[in-house]
Amino acid sequence: MVESGTRWHPAVLYQTTGQGTATTLRCDLCPFRCVLREGQTGVCGVRRRVGNRLETATFGTSVRHWTAVERKPFYHYRPGLKVLTLAAPGCTFRCDYCVNFRVSQVASGDADLGELDPATPRELVAQAAEAGAAIGLSYTEPGLAPEFTLALAEAAGRAGIDLLWKSNGFLTPAALDLVAPVLAAVNVDVKAADEEAHRRLTGASLAPVLDAVEALRARGVWVEVTTPLIPGASDQPSQYTEIARSIARIDPAIPWHLMRFTPSFRMQNEDPGAPAELAAAREAGHAAGLRYVYVERALGPEGRATGCPGCGTTVVRRGIWELESLDLVDGRCAACGTRLEGRW
Ligand code: SF4
Repeated sequence: MVESGTRWHPAVLYQTTGQGTATTLRCDLCPFRCVLREGQTGVCGVRRRVGNRLETATFGTSVRHWTAVERKPFYHYRPGLKVLTLAAPGCTFRCDYCVNFRVSQVASGDADLGELDPATPRELVAQAAEAGAAIGLSYTEPGLAPEFTLALAEAAGRAGIDLLWKSNGFLTPAALDLVAPVLAAVNVDVKAADEEAHRRLTGASLAPVLDAVEALRARGVWVEVTTPLIPGASDQPSQYTEIARSIARIDPAIPWHLMRFTPSFRMQNEDPGAPAELAAAREAGHAAGLRYVYVERALGPEGRATGCPGCGTTVVRRGIWELESLDLVDGRCAACGTRLEGRW
């Protein structure tokens, strides 16, 4: 048993076929399904073949700090909840705008594996329990850390601690089957409207991401979706309108978060997203039938507020990434009694 804090850890979700030097090893964690030679690392840069075994560099965290659940963002999941936020290194996507590239972009060499926090899953869960907090995996791709997630879940289950993910959703059905039972809520990034734009931005297919949104919901996980308005991928009216329609086809009650583009990483020379663009995207979301569309920044408190779909009363007010007021009674509007979807 390799302990937390050491670099490489036995991985799950792979298959070997053949024998001896002809043995083939395939990782089944994400839809790239890398077939690896001896010593080779996958597209993600954090899983490697050693002999006929797969190992991962994601058993542990490079980050440990406190945030509000609103900052993940989750707006319909236990408002005001504190979250002990962790991040194992690595990502399956290679987005040019990534603000977390120094921990996520291991494969390209823009991030290195660095040292992991020596805290064990049990110690991390104890810290969260003492604060009455949930544990969230964010900033990098938590889908690359099913082993760490399951270890946290084992300790968290006994302590009654929720596990949350902010994920790109690029996982195989087998991976979703493995982790969904231990996840309370997942915010999935849907970054583009079509396969071509998604592949250009992320290097990966869009279809598995939308499939993951459906699959997680079908397994009872609370799901919200985030779309950053990225130049050329999701900032055109036809693009964000199609993304909104895709989400609405799955369920119009899925909260949709629109994120303002900030120049960073390889997109330093692009302009920041304009408030008018975010306002137009929000309108497109409502026109597509989505009941809850949010803009964290750029449109002020009104962009972060929840209106009752029944009577229009503002029932939840939020500051930048924190709860200000909640006027729901057992998940229903205090004014008209309409039930709002969420885990309140
Ligand atoms: S998780 Fe990594 S090694 Fe596994 S299939 Fe995906 S990119 Fe390849």
